[in-house]
Amino acid sequence: MAGCAALLGAVAAWAILALVYGMQSAGPAVRLTLPGSLGQIGLPAVAGSADASRPLVVIDAGHGGHDPGASGRFGGKEKAVTLALALAVRNALLEKGGVRVALTRADDRFLVLEERAGIARRLGADAFVSIHADASEAEEASGATIYTLSDRGSDAIANRLALRENRADTVNGVALNDKSDVVSSILVDLARRQMRARSQRFSALVLREGQGRLRFHSDPEREAAFIVLKSLDLPSLLIEAGYISNSGDARDLNDPAWRAAFGKSIASAIQIYLARQEPAAIAP
Ligand SMILES: [Zn+2]
Repeated sequence: MAGCAALLGAVAAWAILALVYGMQSAGPAVRLTLPGSLGQIGLPAVAGSADASRPLVVIDAGHGGHDPGASGRFGGKEKAVTLALALAVRNALLEKGGVRVALTRADDRFLVLEERAGIARRLGADAFVSIHADASEAEEASGATIYTLSDRGSDAIANRLALRENRADTVNGVALNDKSDVVSSILVDLARRQMRARSQRFSALVLREGQGRLRFHSDPEREAAFIVLKSLDLPSLLIEAGYISNSGDARDLNDPAWRAAFGKSIASAIQIYLARQEPAAIAP
């Protein structure tokens, strides 16, 4: 009896876990990896310099798998655009040489938001860039925007966008990202501020290197509370490369030549940033 009860208990626990993590057999199979769980996903391959002392950049193609991201009548699905742009940045970095590069995803797969920066941290990355494409009901909205982390967005539009991008962690109505940071120590606050300043310098370089090559939004540098940027120890940017809801931007985002130019411009900003990098705020 006792053994049976234990078995029933184990089955019940499994059923609850399966329900919570969306692993029930109904519906399409969803590969989920919870941040901090034992079942971490494997680390991606690192390309580029064989010298492990060279800086490592992790490029994150937003969305993927069952999460298509935004869509627009001109531009197809955001998840495909972000993957093509991430590959373009990687290729440009490899062409320039001197760095190591990894992609959080190199195909159409779903990753939990926190696992994206988690991959970068586990690899000991020196910089993290998450690539997205925007959509707006206002068809005239266009141009690229560079986001750094803020606890609050710099305006209502940034807040709405952060809400939409962060929603990718809600699967089957269950929020996977609600482990709010217990950030009370002064040291952590200091590290956060230093990392924010470094990310802002990184952002300024993306803007500078993109001038004349990319079109930027009229208010191109913003702050928003993106989960994917919440690393205390990793300079991180989220780049919305353009609006797939705008006909001109959508044409660019789907044009291999424009993608290559985007890759070159982001790659040169990354390389200048890394060359100037000062020691980390908190030693690993
Ligand atoms: Zn997105």
